[in-house]
Amino acid sequence: MQVPLLDLKAQYAKIRDEMLAAVTEVLDSQICINGPRVVELEEKIAASSDCKYGVGASSGTDAILMSLMALGIGAGDEVITTPFTFFATAGCIHRSGAKAVFVDIDPKTYNIDPSKIEAAITDKTKAILPVHLFGQMADMDAIMAIAKKHNLYVIEDAAQSVTSSYKGKKAGSFGMIGCFSFYPSKNLGGIGDGGMTVTNDEEVKKDLLIMRNHGGGHKYFNEVVGGNFRLDALQAAGLLVKLQYLDEWSQGRRDNAAYYNKKFAGSVVETPYIEADCVSIYNQYVVRVPKRDEVLAHLRENNIGCCVYYPLGLHMQKCFEYLGYKQGDMPETEKACKEVIALPVYPELTDEMKDFTADTLLAFLS
Ligand SMILES: *Cc1c(COP(=O)(O)O)cnc(C)c1O
Repeated sequence: MQVPLLDLKAQYAKIRDEMLAAVTEVLDSQICINGPRVVELEEKIAASSDCKYGVGASSGTDAILMSLMALGIGAGDEVITTPFTFFATAGCIHRSGAKAVFVDIDPKTYNIDPSKIEAAITDKTKAILPVHLFGQMADMDAIMAIAKKHNLYVIEDAAQSVTSSYKGKKAGSFGMIGCFSFYPSKNLGGIGDGGMTVTNDEEVKKDLLIMRNHGGGHKYFNEVVGGNFRLDALQAAGLLVKLQYLDEWSQGRRDNAAYYNKKFAGSVVETPYIEADCVSIYNQYVVRVPKRDEVLAHLRENNIGCCVYYPLGLHMQKCFEYLGYKQGDMPETEKACKEVIALPVYPELTDEMKDFTADTLLAFLS
């Protein structure tokens, strides 16, 4: 049996006709960048994120970068974030000209540990950039309280957590700006690259719109330098089709997670910990296991797709050597890097596939 980590063809098979119609409509209109489908998607993503405004972006990465730029964060500033995340989070801080300051994670949720944030704040700190990892939101009450006390912006990297919630409120609606990715492997995946920012602040929305179009307010007159961070109409059209199914797909992932949790109960496999007041969308189902690298090899030998998110903390990446971190600085991140493994959790998995995955893992570890 083959169990891929993700099977986008299985998803596409169910929506093929709708996708082709949506794409054809854009092609026939020849409105290829921005346009009515982009505006519609911006409104719908904002609404499903408890936000007033959405501003499409060319990727999740560009959503983060243009957020930092729109808030005027750059050289001389510091931005606090987690080292246990996809590279882009800290890559964007670097590219904005600011300095990334890492704060270790809570070992249960893998999200930034708010109790360690205040010690990292200096007079240069401008923002906290929490990541809602694997589909579960970070502890936003604690993070927002610290941000308020120290007058800092919060930018949420919600690339893996579109529509997930914390105390009934959606990802992206807590901070000044929330950032989403529509990379194909995300819960709401495009047919290429795409992303979105959301905000409740009208001025910030205007600044985001300016930033994504080279920083120009009026055509060919620039007050600031931005980039080309625009979203394609084709992406928006495809995403609008998929958005209709997002809640159903996320529920499918939660059901699969519950299925695995039952199978792994009482074993050495440490299942994901979801806070009582969080609803995860399970972009990844990540467990901790002993002998992780052997487990990884064994599952792959058995044609079970699995992956390590993430094998190396960002504080230890070669390109961030200049930040001066060393091994041991982020112990929980470093431990997680050695122990975690993501198993297939996509909604189209069959019970046979889940059984095969879980049983293969349990047999190897027993
Ligand atoms: C995917 C991802 C991004 C980047 O999104 P892209 O659309 O691939 O540019 C940023 N942060 C996190 C946490 C991600 O998972």
